[in-house]
Amino acid sequence: MKKVFCVFFVLIMISVLPTHVFAAHATEFEPYHISVVFGENSLLTNQQKQIVEHRLSEKENKTGDRNILCTIFGHNYTSEIVSTITHKVNPQAPRCKKIRYLVDICTRCSDTQTELLSTAYIICCE
Ligand SMILES: [Zn+2]
Ligand SMILES: [Zn+2]
Repeated sequence: MKKVFCVFFVLIMISVLPTHVFAAHATEFEPYHISVVFGENSLLTNQQKQIVEHRLSEKENKTGDRNILCTIFGHNYTSEIVSTITHKVNPQAPRCKKIRYLVDICTRCSDTQTELLSTAYIICCE
């Protein structure tokens, strides 16, 4: 009985840890001013948008909390095209850099995969 309890505790620790690392990292970040732009017909929930925003602006691809269903059946992704605009990266116009991504986000556990589609400099900031 004690052994089962121990395994259960370890499982809890594993599921709690990534969120802590993620939260700590988010507060430290602020290199450029980055806007994340979602499509007008975006089907993502506000919570999913926040997760995507974090992933894209941090330029990191961390795996989120694993859902037991995802471990067994694999992730259940929904895909959307999301753009980021990194402001004032160029000293002269066009100053801002727009990057389009294809974002896959799991509807169960919010695991996020991003694929870069295109990069362009746009006229945005003066
Ligand atoms: Zn998943
Ligand atoms: Zn700009």
